[in-house]
Amino acid sequence: MERGVYFDAWFPRQHCYHPSLPPRRLKMIEDLESYRATALVWSALGGGSISLPYLEQEAWQKIDPRFRMYGFINDAEFIQHCQKKGIKVFGIVFEVQGWEFPVELNETEDEILALNELRGEGKKRWLGLREFTQNRYPKLWRPLEHYFSGGLVNSDGEQVTDLLEECVSRDIFGAPCHSTWVECPDREHYAYLMDRNNPVWREYLKAIIRIQIDAGVAGVQLDEADLPIFATGYGGCFCKDCMKLFKAYLQKLPAQDLPKELEGEDLEAFHYGSWLLQRGYDFKANRESTPLYWDYIRFQRQTIVEYFGELADYIKSYGAQKGRDVQVSGNFYYLSPHYYPFEPKTDILITEMDSTSYRQPSWCRYSAGFAGGKPVIVVENPYGGVPPELLPKLKSGQGYDLFRMMQYEASALGINERPVRGLDGQRHRGLVLGAARPGRRDPGLHRRPRRRAVLHGDLLGNGCRVQRAEQLRLPRGARIGPSVPVLVGVRRAGRGETTFRSRDAAGRQAAAGHDHAGSAQPVPDPDPARMQLSHLGPGTRGERVPGPRRARARDRRRRTEPAR
Ligand SMILES: [Zn+2]
Repeated sequence: MERGVYFDAWFPRQHCYHPSLPPRRLKMIEDLESYRATALVWSALGGGSISLPYLEQEAWQKIDPRFRMYGFINDAEFIQHCQKKGIKVFGIVFEVQGWEFPVELNETEDEILALNELRGEGKKRWLGLREFTQNRYPKLWRPLEHYFSGGLVNSDGEQVTDLLEECVSRDIFGAPCHSTWVECPDREHYAYLMDRNNPVWREYLKAIIRIQIDAGVAGVQLDEADLPIFATGYGGCFCKDCMKLFKAYLQKLPAQDLPKELEGEDLEAFHYGSWLLQRGYDFKANRESTPLYWDYIRFQRQTIVEYFGELADYIKSYGAQKGRDVQVSGNFYYLSPHYYPFEPKTDILITEMDSTSYRQPSWCRYSAGFAGGKPVIVVENPYGGVPPELLPKLKSGQGYDLFRMMQYEASALGINERPVRGLDGQRHRGLVLGAARPGRRDPGLHRRPRRRAVLHGDLLGNGCRVQRAEQLRLPRGARIGPSVPVLVGVRRAGRGETTFRSRDAAGRQAAAGHDHAGSAQPVPDPDPARMQLSHLGPGTRGERVPGPRRARARDRRRRTEPAR
């Protein structure tokens, strides 16, 4: 059981500037203790995608006495203090982001006068991964060779002189893709969308992991863990390493499995990007009907498993060198099926939701099954779904019933859901989900258990059968969400015990409805409109979940109802 907090902890009324999180303070730890948090995600040491020296500053930089006055601490101190309180801090590796920021420097280039938010002082320059690779500011940052003796060498055997240009995902025309969702439109900074298929980038990510572990993290969280599949939404990826690997993948296919479009093709000279351009495709319009698209996705589904595994193993082995079992996790966004083969390499599953609504039983069941009994921390989407309307309600003392219902549902269906109203007066964030042992009491569902509402239930193949409900009018034997499709069946293994069934490979494939290495069949994400909980009430058995149209109408009605 974990009580996770989504702990960017950014400043109120200001952007969340990825990748560097605001400095931590002792007061934050007091708040986290009062929330009874046990794990912090997106919570520390994100600056590696600016540079390694910058990351080291986040970890160990000396704090000015004026900032000590208000309890500011560096990230290593934060991690240590959290550990004393039983709170595990996960270092965040923003795998898909490669940054450059505008900076203002003094004349001798040994002092930063402004960074990102400029103030018109000194000399304006750029500071980020490119400058780090080129040792552009020796008085500010240690050289690349301090971290990689002999520098970095790419898959063509060339010395790397620009990490951004080397490791970025590219569209079919060779243009770099951007991580646009983290770039602030009113700022000059930019983030390239990076590619883990490039071995240079994996070497770099391992250096980030080393620094995080040296700084004491309990775990490492690999964000956007499906790069470069992630890049397909941005026209990628046609970088040199993806093209080499795809060609090698096709060459290795048995003759009978070779796509028919490639019959008679000289695979030795094959380049997917050029091949598509010759046929008039740009991999942007009608992408999913582009020739070989699903073959390409199937290939990438193999590479993401391999390279996530490589980093996960590295976290474990470097942690072991330091005498610690460092936990491994990632951001398995919405638990999309292609993340399913990652699960054996992880200790805890962390995911952002695509859309958060008040009731989403099929998704809760899916998550519980996906995790196979491991803890799940689910973070709500702060921009979509119901949080933008729910958080102001909670802040003004309304909507507690809606809030509770989300938790009852998740708890009944095998995960525990716990939105927190935000830390330090922030209006955002912090849906917290505990872990997923159905039938177990959740002692932390509420901080003040005046009306403790706990469901004890068995997860069945098609829903949840309530065994006992405290403070909830649910009869023994009531079923929840019976017609919602579930992906992993659960059966009772013994008196009072529940065990997940499908741990074998065949079961896993059937469970996810998806063969990561084989079938090209796309698996749709759960349709939010279907994520409605059927009625709960005395004698309820096998009630139908409303169809999408009815569900949407009902949802609209509910959202406009005044909170009680
Ligand atoms: Zn690539």
